[in-house]
Amino acid sequence: MKVVVLGSGVVGLTSAWYLSQAGCEVTVVDRQSRAAEETSFANAGQISYGYSSPWAAPGIPSKAVKWLFEQYAPLKIKPSLSPELIQWAGKMLLNCNLDKYRINKARMLMVANRSRECLAKLNQQYQLDYQGRSQGTLQIFRNAAQLSAVEKDIQLLEESGTRYQLLDPSQCLEQEPGLANMQGQLAGGLYLPDDQTGDCYLFCQQLQKMAQQAGVKFLFDTHIKQLVTQGNQVIAVDTDQGTIEGDRFVVALGSYSKQLLLPLGIDVPIYPVKGYSLTLPVIDEQQAPSSTIMDETYKVALTRFAQRIRVAGTAELAGFDPSLPDKRLATLNHVVSNLFPNGVDFSQAEYWTGFRPMTPDGTPIIGQTPLNNLYTNTGHGTLGWTMACGSAEILAEIITGSGQTASEELSLTRYLRCA
Ligand SMILES: Cc1cc2nc3c(=O)[nH]c(=O)nc-3n(C[C@H](O)[C@H](O)[C@H](O)COP(=O)(O)OP(=O)(O)OC[C@H]3O[C@@H](n4cnc5c(N)ncnc54)[C@H](O)[C@@H]3O)c2cc1C
Repeated sequence: MKVVVLGSGVVGLTSAWYLSQAGCEVTVVDRQSRAAEETSFANAGQISYGYSSPWAAPGIPSKAVKWLFEQYAPLKIKPSLSPELIQWAGKMLLNCNLDKYRINKARMLMVANRSRECLAKLNQQYQLDYQGRSQGTLQIFRNAAQLSAVEKDIQLLEESGTRYQLLDPSQCLEQEPGLANMQGQLAGGLYLPDDQTGDCYLFCQQLQKMAQQAGVKFLFDTHIKQLVTQGNQVIAVDTDQGTIEGDRFVVALGSYSKQLLLPLGIDVPIYPVKGYSLTLPVIDEQQAPSSTIMDETYKVALTRFAQRIRVAGTAELAGFDPSLPDKRLATLNHVVSNLFPNGVDFSQAEYWTGFRPMTPDGTPIIGQTPLNNLYTNTGHGTLGWTMACGSAEILAEIITGSGQTASEELSLTRYLRCA
């Protein structure tokens, strides 16, 4: 079976790998000259299985209004709202209640926990080196309200078999001694010991080489223009380098998936939620994070790679705007200066921005579309690195007809049912 995978971000690459391992003849197409040059390039590096949660949660609408007036707020909205954003935000608001939150988080945890198993097997077999660590995520709370809000997650963590520990302030400092500067300023923390960290770009470069050696064909510098259909089938992909035929087609274009599918009458509810990252070299081991710290106040993640840290956050609803304005980067600078003022070298700061492919319910869209041989593996939002391997294995099972995953829950069907 010939499968054409559109996109070579972490989701397209892992899809290609698991499809190839399942016996498919795979071709990957991407407009960039290397894999993972867009949103998978400099994300926060959290492989946070236990932290997998939808942004659409009870209380978010009122918090969002408050954030609009704060200097270092995690959410920013461009004053001119587009119809596309209004439609997406409307669907997201419908998910901001406890019942929907539970369903969505349970789905995300299911994909994330599958990813944990897949990545463990990959690492066992191939000893990948992506500056990974297995020391967990520490979510830090600066006030009692944040601490009590986490209670809604505890039952779901237990139901999904995800290990966790609630820590008091002194235990937080024992877990992450570099946080000594925060003594007296923390209310507590949630520690997720099975979470991991790693540089997504390094992982992708290695997986791309492994996939190539396993026979996957990569067509880089190739801009996808449209899908060519006949009846209820896709017969080819039209690109600026010619057409590519196949038996099955997988759309893994991240935030750009919507644009390719809309002309076919398929509306995937994905909005490009812009985020920023900052990479800094470590200059003092004792005053730097040792794994991932998630600062709940600013929704900023700080992750340790070998001799660097990656700091990322901010959700900006502004369409595809690649600019790096100082006032947005200020939040990341503020959090690092607050938590680890002496651990890193600010003179070597590298800033980056990317577009999270966000669905209104936080869960990716994996599976068949209304067209017979067209599939999606997209919409991984804030946690595409975390959920990539599991999503890809699930997709490969759906395409090859093996496996037991409840695919309707993850596919576009869940949105078509509501339309
Ligand atoms: C600031 C920030 C921090 C994040 N932190 C984390 C984290 O800590 N942990 C985590 O799990 N996730 C994190 N994420 C989310 C994660 O990075 C994304 O979910 C993931 O990278 C999405 O991967 P993807 O393969 O779907 O999309 P992409 O990586 O964007 O890949 C899509 C590919 O499609 C190609 N493409 C698009 N259009 C075309 C076209 N017309 N023709 C040809 N090629 C095309 C692009 O070149 C690109 O290579 C973060 C994201 C951001 C922005």
